[in-house]
Amino acid sequence: MKAVLLNGINTLEVAEIPTPTPGPHELVIRMLACGLCGTDRHILVGEHPAKMPLVLGHEFGGRVTAVGEGVSFQIGDLVSVDPNIVCGKCDHCLAGRTAHCRDLIALGVTINGGFAEYVLLPDTQAYLVPPTTNPLHLGLVEPLACCIRGIDLSEIKSGDRVAILGGGSMGMLLIQLCKLAGAAEIVLVTRQQERREIAEKIGATKTLDPAAVDITKELSDMDITFEAAGVIETFNQAVAITRSGGVVLVLGVAPSHERAEISVYEIVIRGLRIIGSYINPFTQARAVELISSGKLDLDSLISRTISLDELPKFLTQSPRQGDIKYLVTGE
Ligand code: NAP
Ligand code: ZN
Repeated sequence: MKAVLLNGINTLEVAEIPTPTPGPHELVIRMLACGLCGTDRHILVGEHPAKMPLVLGHEFGGRVTAVGEGVSFQIGDLVSVDPNIVCGKCDHCLAGRTAHCRDLIALGVTINGGFAEYVLLPDTQAYLVPPTTNPLHLGLVEPLACCIRGIDLSEIKSGDRVAILGGGSMGMLLIQLCKLAGAAEIVLVTRQQERREIAEKIGATKTLDPAAVDITKELSDMDITFEAAGVIETFNQAVAITRSGGVVLVLGVAPSHERAEISVYEIVIRGLRIIGSYINPFTQARAVELISSGKLDLDSLISRTISLDELPKFLTQSPRQGDIKYLVTGE
């Protein structure tokens, strides 16, 4: 089968590798959509640890083509994949903190993932999707599941005023989840004008360009601020614009060596809750439900589809201005 192999830092190759065969409790899917994510680029340039050689890609789904012994899925089923495989035995797993599993394995990060024609996975990672689902939407289930986790942790309430800093796919999904949760005001902050236009189309009540205005002057007393850029500057802004007793919900992954400047005094006096949200524990099934419900505008977020052959080019260059999500279709 065809796969895009990461052989070393900055070394990608479109290669022919053996098509996997499933063992007990494993299945193989024909990959139908796999999203490109910032993490893939971080792994490529050596900023995020990964095992190599590796097939990258952790936001994917497809059609079941082979099943091993004891698997309840049928050949032909459409499935979404949760890439994060937890051990279920460590102290964190046993206490329900599976995102922090001490032996976390991830398809596309520590074992072969979705940038291939076929993918092998444990049956615990597959979620049945209605056959009528647009196969491209399978590439957005995992990021949506991560956003649902953030929404859960934020404890958003009807009538809340929220700000979302960062207008990538995460910010765009958060807008729609906040709208469904009944937020009264949803302000999306991002520099690119095309992104602000999409944000307004899908539910932002207001958008701001942080390059043109001082966000800390424009916004104040937000009930919840989602940091979805992964930038120290936006984290600092999030702290500044959130009301006392409010929530700063951090989803963006900032570079590991960078530090924010934060007043400990302010955290205490203002009773701020700064909450980190990592991956998608227990939210993949709800992401599937929501995507199947048709309540989300996903098509506005899919900027283009690309083939496996084109992928190395797209992984090594920055996304085009205004583009949100690229999906590899496995052809
Ligand atoms: P993305 O496409 O890179 O979107 C982030 C966007 O933030 C950037 O494209 C940029 O858009 C905007 N931005 C940058 N600097 C900004 C600033 N100073 N003010 C406002 N906006 C700014 O990434 P994504 O896929 O949406 O993911 C967002 C973050 O979440 C990333 O850090 C990613 O690693 C992380 N993530 C976390 C989880 C989790 O489980 N916690 C899961 C998936 C992803 P403009 O050019 O328009 O400003
Ligand atoms: Zn564990």
